[in-house]
Amino acid sequence: MSAIDTLKAIFSGAWNLLVGLKTTGKYLPTRAVTLQYPDERWTMPERSRGVVVLLSDPETGELNCNACLVCMKQCPVSAITITQGKNEKGERYPITYTIDNTICCFCGICEEVCNFDAVKLTGKYEFAVFDKADLIYDKNKLQELGRDVKYERKRKPRPTPAPKPAAKPGDATEPKIETEIKPDSSAEEKA
Ligand code: SF4
Ligand code: SF4
Repeated sequence: MSAIDTLKAIFSGAWNLLVGLKTTGKYLPTRAVTLQYPDERWTMPERSRGVVVLLSDPETGELNCNACLVCMKQCPVSAITITQGKNEKGERYPITYTIDNTICCFCGICEEVCNFDAVKLTGKYEFAVFDKADLIYDKNKLQELGRDVKYERKRKPRPTPAPKPAAKPGDATEPKIETEIKPDSSAEEKA
C-alpha cells in the first residue's frame, strides 16, 4: 500500500469516527428510550394481548371459570384444553385448564366469548423459558398469573325481561289480518 493510500484510509477512518460521534452527541442530551431490564419493566396498555390468565373472585379466591368449554371450542388454534368436573353442589368447575402458549396466537377470542370474566389477556410479556414444555401453562399457573390482574366485571347479569302485555283487539301492535278480496285479474282477462 502506498503512502497516499495509507493517508486516505486514515482520513476515511477519522471521518467515520466523527460522523459516529456526531450521532452520539445528538442523542446524548435526550431521554433514554430503553429500560434497565429486569430492574425496570414497561407498563403495558390495559388492552395489551400478552399472557393469557385465569381470573379469580377477589373475595372467595375461587376461579370464575365454570368450565362451560366455550373458550375451548372457540379457540382458533385449539390452544385451550379443559376437563370438566362437578362439585358436591352439582356445579361445574374445571378440573384441569391448560393453555399451550406455543400455539396461542393471542387473538383474544377466549376473553371475548367468556361470559363469566374468567379468562383475560394481560400486559404480561415475559415468556422466556429454557424448556418449550414450560410454555404449557396449567390451571394453577394460570390462576397465579391472574392473581394481581385487576378484576373488573365487564358483563353485568342480564335483567329478566318483563312479560309482554296481552294484545287487545284493535291494538296497533296486534297483527292485522288481510281481509280485502282483490278482483281476480286472470278471470277478467278470460272474460
Ligand atoms: S374461561 Fe370462560 S368460556 Fe372458558 S370454560 Fe371458563 S367460563 Fe367458559
Ligand atoms: S388468545 Fe386466542 S389463541 Fe390464545 S388461547 Fe385465547 S382464543 Fe386461543
